Amino acid sequence: MHDIVIVGAGTAGLSAAIYAQRAGKNVLLLEQLSYGGQIINTPEVENYPGIKSISGFDFATGLYEQAMALGAKMESAQVTGIVDGSEKKVLTKNGEYPCKAVILATGAKNRPLGLARESELIGNGVSYCATCDGAFFRKRPVAVNGGGNTALEDALFLSNYCSKVYLVHRRDAFRGEAKQVEQLRAKENVEFVLNATISRLIGDDGLSAIEVTDKLSGEKREIEVDGLFIAIGQMPENQAFAPLIRLDASGYIEAGEDCKTNIEGIYAAGDCRTKTVRQLTTAAADGAVAALAACSYIG
Ligand code: NAP
Repeated sequence: MHDIVIVGAGTAGLSAAIYAQRAGKNVLLLEQLSYGGQIINTPEVENYPGIKSISGFDFATGLYEQAMALGAKMESAQVTGIVDGSEKKVLTKNGEYPCKAVILATGAKNRPLGLARESELIGNGVSYCATCDGAFFRKRPVAVNGGGNTALEDALFLSNYCSKVYLVHRRDAFRGEAKQVEQLRAKENVEFVLNATISRLIGDDGLSAIEVTDKLSGEKREIEVDGLFIAIGQMPENQAFAPLIRLDASGYIEAGEDCKTNIEGIYAAGDCRTKTVRQLTTAAADGAVAALAACSYIG
């Protein structure tokens, strides 16, 4: 019997583990991939207060090592549901984990564009992770799709390797930080393709070009690229909890700044819950809030 089972070992889950262990509770993290969550794929984090610059991998590794050094345990498991009661049970494909409180920190996954052949071309030109796959496209032309921080960071990162980077965005204003937009504008090998959507992926065995449609004129244009990095946001993955935990229309867990869900003793932290700002700082803050709430619930 664990005091707290945390589902997901990203920034929110690991921060929760650190706070709960330090409060004297024993914590088990359940994670289906590896620790770190989405930040592990970010080349450089420059907006976490107190750390001028760090790679996403180093940041996540630091969090993981801190949680483990405090006595938290982590197991690899895919969670399939939760049973509520005087004690709670987290259900996984490998078995059940009884506990006193649960923190859901399931994050979010990459949103696909939904184009024909998109999944077939993954690994053959289509990627959702510039840090993982960027080096394969050294001195070759690529495109990045999206207008948020991820797309801007990806485009900056790729501009250091690739012969040309087309940044395709559906509007003419960016959601991501202005500082990065300025850095991209100063790069000679970066071309902005704005008010445009990608309408077709072209290529036989691998991607060789994308068809882009101008949203204002309706004109179509083919751009020759060897790689396309899709960075159009995230989607939550909370369906396994839906029978018990209330979700909003987009699938995020309904929980306020106190991280409390509709079920006592079950909390939601980080990108998986309803919120307007999804950042490392807010994920870490949620981890602390959820852990302290769980500790006071357990008593
Ligand atoms: P995001 O901020 O939600 O941006 C997604 C972008 O993709 C938007 O520009 C959106 O366009 C576009 N988009 C969405 N659906 C689309 C579609 N079907 N077709 C074409 N374009 C589409 O996602 P994100 O950049 O992955 O960032 C997610 C969160 O993580 C954000 O809060 C971000 O600030 C944060 N983040 C933080 C850091 C950091 O702190 N270092 C790094 C990366 C990300 P519109 O703008 O028109 O809606």
